[in-house]
Amino acid sequence: MRLRRLMFGTAAAALACTVAACGGGKDTGSSNPPVNTSATFDAGTTMAKLKDAGKIRIGTKFDQPLFGLKGLDNKPTGFDVEIAKLVAAKLGVGADKIEWVETQSKVREEYIEQGKVDLIVATYTINDKRKERISFAGPYYEAGQDLMVKKDNSAITGPESLKAANARVCSVTGSTPAETIKKYVDPANVVLFDVYSKCADALKNNQVDVVTTDNVILLGLVDKSAGAFKLVGKPFTTEPYGIGIKKGDTKFCQFIDDTLKAAAGDGSYEKAWQDTAGKVAPDAPKLPDLDTCS
Ligand code: GLU
Repeated sequence: MRLRRLMFGTAAAALACTVAACGGGKDTGSSNPPVNTSATFDAGTTMAKLKDAGKIRIGTKFDQPLFGLKGLDNKPTGFDVEIAKLVAAKLGVGADKIEWVETQSKVREEYIEQGKVDLIVATYTINDKRKERISFAGPYYEAGQDLMVKKDNSAITGPESLKAANARVCSVTGSTPAETIKKYVDPANVVLFDVYSKCADALKNNQVDVVTTDNVILLGLVDKSAGAFKLVGKPFTTEPYGIGIKKGDTKFCQFIDDTLKAAAGDGSYEKAWQDTAGKVAPDAPKLPDLDTCS
C-alpha cells in the first residue's frame, strides 16, 4: 500500500505538470499485440471457453479520451482498450475478434452478472461493495479523484473549497466519485449524468461549475477542451483500476494477473501507456502490486 501511495504521488505529479504543458486533442493510437495462437488451457476454464470460441466480449467506456474512446471507425482506443487487447491476445483471441461493448459506470456489475460481457476494462475502481457482486483482477493502474473547472476559475482549489463557492458539481451515476463528492457538497448541487462527456458539455455551457471524477479521465477531457478547462490537480482519493470478471472466477483472475505481470516484464504494459494516455502524460506508470484473487 505504501508503495502504491508513493507511485500514485509520482503519477499525480506527472499528471499535474503534463496538464500545465499540454496541448490539445492529440490522437491516441492503437496497436495489436501478438496473438498467442498456441495457447492451451485446462478444460472447463473461462480461458479454454474463450480460446475455443475464438472471440470475446469486452466492456469499456466509449467517451473517455486516453482510456476508452470510440472513434469514427467504431473502434475504441485508449489505455483500457490496450490492456484488454493484451488479455485477449494471451487467450489466443485477436483484436479483430473482440466485440466492444459500452459499459457506462452504473451498468458494470450487472453486465458482468448477466454475462453480457466476458470482462470489463473501464476505469473501474476496485472496492468492497463491488466485490460483493463481481471479482477483480489487477489493479493495473492507480488513479485519484480530482476536479476539473473552466480555465479562468480560481475559486475552486480543492474539494474543501466547493461549499464556500456554492459550486454545482457534475459526475456520473454509479461511480465512486459521485459517492465521495457528497461529503463535500450539498446534494442539491450535485448533477449526475450517465457519461462524463455530458458533464464536460454542462461545464462548457455553464450549467455546472465543476466536473469530478478520476484525474486521468479529467486529463483526457482537459486535453480535448482546447484550453477551455483545467485540472485542479489535487487528487483526494485512491482509485485502483481492476479488470471486472464473474464473481469467484479465481482461475481467470490469476490468468489476467499473470498476463499483466508478463506485460510489465516485456514492455507491452509500458507500450500500451505510451501509445495512448502517454501522448498526454508521458511518464509511464509502474504496474501496481496486484491484489490476491478471490
Ligand atoms: N473509477 C471510478 C469508478 O469506477 C470513476 C470512473 C468511472 O466512473 O468509470 O467509479
